[in-house]
Amino acid sequence: MSPVRTFLTRLARPTITSRRDLIRYVVVVTAFSLVAALAIDVAQQLMFFTTWVTALRSWAVTVAAVTVIATPVATMFARAQWELQRAKDALEDLSRTDPLTGLPNRRALMEASEAPTPQTMVLVIADVDRFKALNDTYGHRAGDAVLQAVGQIMTQHLAGFGLVGRLGGEEFALISSDASLEQIMSALRELLRAIEATPFVTPGGAVRITMSAGIAIRHSSEPFERLYSEADEALYLAKRSGRNQIELSARAKEALPPGKTADYQNLA
Ligand code: GH3
Ligand code: MG
Ligand code: MG
Repeated sequence: MSPVRTFLTRLARPTITSRRDLIRYVVVVTAFSLVAALAIDVAQQLMFFTTWVTALRSWAVTVAAVTVIATPVATMFARAQWELQRAKDALEDLSRTDPLTGLPNRRALMEASEAPTPQTMVLVIADVDRFKALNDTYGHRAGDAVLQAVGQIMTQHLAGFGLVGRLGGEEFALISSDASLEQIMSALRELLRAIEATPFVTPGGAVRITMSAGIAIRHSSEPFERLYSEADEALYLAKRSGRNQIELSARAKEALPPGKTADYQNLA
């Protein structure tokens, strides 16, 4: 795109995200309008020049008229663009946030997982055990309160390792490219212990729960679906093996240092 076209496009569709952007836009529009109006004025005087006094008076009127019109109009337009940008940003945030827990939602997690990372990526899926029974016994509102509290505890224990979010239902996740598998397993063990030991205060009374977790590991270029299905399979195994425990995918087990493989199940 030519520089003139880029300039005109920016005037017509500015991106305004701060007061500084707004002031800069108003100054540029006012200056551009002044230059354009004065150019027309000068061209007209070149053709119909009478006296310098008339010419100077005409320029002064042009400058005053353009400033009085262009500055407030540009300010109003820039303010409207800024509001629009804010609304867009808020909507973007909302579309990536789980309304119940305030955590990043599935979409945010998927996007984070798709970001190219040179390192390996670890995915943990943690699921509340027998949550349906909890809902049936204590009520849906109690279930919601438990999910909110679980979101908070998960954040406290795991947010230092990566992105913690809610995949949906009673299923939470951690995506990490910064920590080792062993660090994550150790934090997860602490989390499961904390969950088990915490009585959750809900509108239906105090509730005790446990959680199970599946862990999978991915090397840089593999698709997220593979990581997800491996973590899901590991979670399924943890459920089948009695719940309230951690299970690793086959490849995650291989990634553990020799000697650690045997005792990973005792972590929970
Ligand atoms: P498992 O130990 O095998 O995970 O069993 P479960 O009962 O936890 O799993 P299941 O998939 O059978 O039930 C999940 C329940 O979670 C069913 C659904 O009604 C409930 N649920 C899903 N989303 C919400 C929510 O936002 N709030 C509440 N209160 N319940 C939810
Ligand atoms: Mg469950
Ligand atoms: Mg589930």
